[in-house]
Amino acid sequence: MRLSRLVRFGVDILFPPRCVFCGGIVAPGTEICGNCAKEIVPSGTGGCVSIPVRDRDVPCAFLYPYEGKVRDSMLRYKFHGQKQYAGFYARELAGRIGGARRGERLDLVTSVPLSDGRLRERGYNQSELIAKPVARALGLPYVRCLRKTRPNGVQHLLSREQRLRNVRGVYSLCGEPVRGKRVLLIDDIVTTGSTLAECSAVLLEGGAAGVACAAVARSAPEQS
Ligand SMILES: [Zn+2]
Repeated sequence: MRLSRLVRFGVDILFPPRCVFCGGIVAPGTEICGNCAKEIVPSGTGGCVSIPVRDRDVPCAFLYPYEGKVRDSMLRYKFHGQKQYAGFYARELAGRIGGARRGERLDLVTSVPLSDGRLRERGYNQSELIAKPVARALGLPYVRCLRKTRPNGVQHLLSREQRLRNVRGVYSLCGEPVRGKRVLLIDDIVTTGSTLAECSAVLLEGGAAGVACAAVARSAPEQS
């Protein structure tokens, strides 16, 4: 056994890999257990919602309903430092997007930004951590296009109308220009779609030729 494999073997015994969804111990080299693989199946092309953005609709693909073990998993990912889940979510999401694309052109991948304060507090942008490997898997560049210019508090306690007002004017373009580009915009969870709608509007007003969105999970407003 080569040293690197021996070390890996030792690490797996001391810290066995655990299922992304239920936290149970799984075989080395796997990310989800047999039960969860059977129970939690990513949505097909039906997993898509339409988000109204100014005068058009932007599609948003998602993998799972935000409930049960998916919700538990995403809470561990977002608030309890389980950053390594990003790789699993990204592979599943890239598979879902790649399957639905049917030759439709995309030029770059970006993600919903966090405010500077929130980023400092969490230490990572959970959407960017997913979007980067999605971009790699799709053979597209990841580009930081958006920034959040001010914190706007939590969205999940607000009604749909309050959410829309709460995100207005909070995002702006940064970095490379998006003019003429078709952008895939990624977030971790889509609820009413108000954040994705506002970010999409900023990209389109900045000259993007088109925007498509994708999220790991879709939450009903009352669930989040
Ligand atoms: Zn499991």
